[in-house]
Amino acid sequence: MTKPAKFDVAIVGGGPAGVSCAIWLKQLGFNPVLIEKNEICGGLQLLNAYTNTWIATSANAHGKDVAAALQANIERHEVQTRMSTTAAEATLNHDGITIRTDADEVIKASFLVLAGGVKPKGAGFAARIGLLVGPGPAVASSDFTGQRVAILGGGDSALENYRFIKNRGASLVHVYARSLRARAEMLEGASPDDIHVGSYTTDADRNLVNGEHYDVVVVLYGYEAHKSALMGLEPLMRSDGFVFTDKDCMTSIDRVYAIGEIAQRAHPCCVTSMADGVVAAKAIQRRMEASKASQFLGAVKRLGRVAAMAAT
Ligand SMILES: Cc1cc2nc3c(=O)[nH]c(=O)nc-3n(C[C@H](O)[C@H](O)[C@H](O)COP(=O)(O)OP(=O)(O)OC[C@H]3O[C@@H](n4cnc5c(N)ncnc54)[C@H](O)[C@@H]3O)c2cc1C
Repeated sequence: MTKPAKFDVAIVGGGPAGVSCAIWLKQLGFNPVLIEKNEICGGLQLLNAYTNTWIATSANAHGKDVAAALQANIERHEVQTRMSTTAAEATLNHDGITIRTDADEVIKASFLVLAGGVKPKGAGFAARIGLLVGPGPAVASSDFTGQRVAILGGGDSALENYRFIKNRGASLVHVYARSLRARAEMLEGASPDDIHVGSYTTDADRNLVNGEHYDVVVVLYGYEAHKSALMGLEPLMRSDGFVFTDKDCMTSIDRVYAIGEIAQRAHPCCVTSMADGVVAAKAIQRRMEASKASQFLGAVKRLGRVAAMAAT
């Protein structure tokens, strides 16, 4: 068996959170490795078919541009990566974490950062032709001309996609929301006739909502943590299904941190995810340096130099 590769920190997930953390750790003088199952970094921004106008430093970048910038920065900082690689299994040791990848590589690290993000909530609906789960490429690439469309969900994404699909020539678009949570701006221009608020019934096999037939049903129930990105670890989870962390982004497991949407500590977006990456990197730096300082002090004590220094 080949020897495990050793790193200071293993980061699982190359979205905004994981890339930000990796770049900070590298610049702070550590040796991180970033494991990403896609061919390139970018995470959910690879699926963002719209312009991302929410990042203060980038004017009108498309989702794909944001992803490309993340990939370019990982390369520029020469962070070690394992691309097209899924981190499959993690085990805890007394001095760190061992990760096994789907390429059968064993990676050892003193710290682990979980940055595996989220996936659209299926809530029992399985995507197929005529039934789309989550926003992104499937919606953006569909031809809705003349189609009757039902959207399930009452958040920003539901109303944003209502507008998008209407503009794509659908003959009608109805939104079914158990509760309406979209911000006021999203409701502007929406016809009250199109919005149903309260409970409703679905028959997914026949594309029926409240007994009415639709050509396309789009399920936009929000996101849930990528549980497979926990690699079998069992950190404390919050009641809403995201990983619980403290103010330093540490999970209930010592040396294991969780950042970005998998922990959803703040409003989920690129900027808060990247900010989490910084918080975790700085917390890990403090621990690594405290440990090195105490090792150094131990050596000084062993040489009997502490009292002598104190006396001078
Ligand atoms: C359609 C759409 C539009 C959006 N528009 C905006 C916008 O305009 N502005 C904005 O700020 N935000 C937007 N967002 C949200 C933003 O993309 C997310 O908040 C952000 O990407 C979260 O970053 P993250 O790093 O936490 O997770 P993610 O981006 O989800 O990245 C997680 C990464 O982990 C990888 N991964 C998961 N499990 C494993 C594993 N076991 N091994 C290896 N890799 C793994 C995944 O492949 C993925 O690349 C949008 C999201 C979508 C879907």
